Amino acid sequence: MRKKIVAGNWKMNKTHSESIALINELKDAISSDLSNTEVMVAPTSVNLFPSVSAADGTSIEVIAQNMHEADNGAFTGEISGSMLKSIGVNTVILGHSERRAIYGETDELLAQKVDAALNNHIRIIFCVGETLEVRKQDQHFIEVANQIRKSLFHLSAADWENIVIAYEPVWAIGTGETASPDQAQEMHDFIRKIINKKYTSEISDNLSILYGGSVKPNNAKEIFAKEDVDGGLIGGASLKAEDFLAIINSI
Ligand code: PEP
Repeated sequence: MRKKIVAGNWKMNKTHSESIALINELKDAISSDLSNTEVMVAPTSVNLFPSVSAADGTSIEVIAQNMHEADNGAFTGEISGSMLKSIGVNTVILGHSERRAIYGETDELLAQKVDAALNNHIRIIFCVGETLEVRKQDQHFIEVANQIRKSLFHLSAADWENIVIAYEPVWAIGTGETASPDQAQEMHDFIRKIINKKYTSEISDNLSILYGGSVKPNNAKEIFAKEDVDGGLIGGASLKAEDFLAIINSI
């Protein structure tokens, strides 16, 4: 059975003490009986290690927002998979639209990052999604299929045990605009079908596909109720314990 996941992407928000305070608020409130649901938070890199310590022994997993494709070397300011692993981080978000748009990360570079993460036994939440312009041209299925094909289709069947996909339409991120539950379901179903076609139904059935893009306490339940939506990647609403907890409880 595939896992349900609710992951909070804190982006470049929260100081050290704010990060720890939020983890403490969450861990006090999250019931230990989450059965098939995983809860994750992605603090900024400087706060990863103290956050891992703060979440130790709880049902909250601390994950990274990004990593470099090399294991070490002259890459000023970067962080490698082996470094993440060494502080107890076992999952990384790759391909977020902000990394693609602001930092020019291409599908090809992301394929290298995917390989580096897997080589370090790090699970990946791989983000895909189309811009508004692409959707208006009715090219969104082609765009998302290409992103997946170029960055993930070189993987072996076994590698897919460590892949989660997050469908995040760029026009819905941080805009207050959400894909309708039907639009999310339509794309998630499409993603599962192309994985099934390239690999096997076992792999596509076991793949968790998250939705991201202005998920809030008032719309989470409807979106999560869709058959192929296995949870969410949450930006803005993950910064407040009350909102994030309400979203977790919607699943
Ligand atoms: C995100 O950045 O991954 C995201 C989904 O942001 P928001 O929830 O703020 O739209």
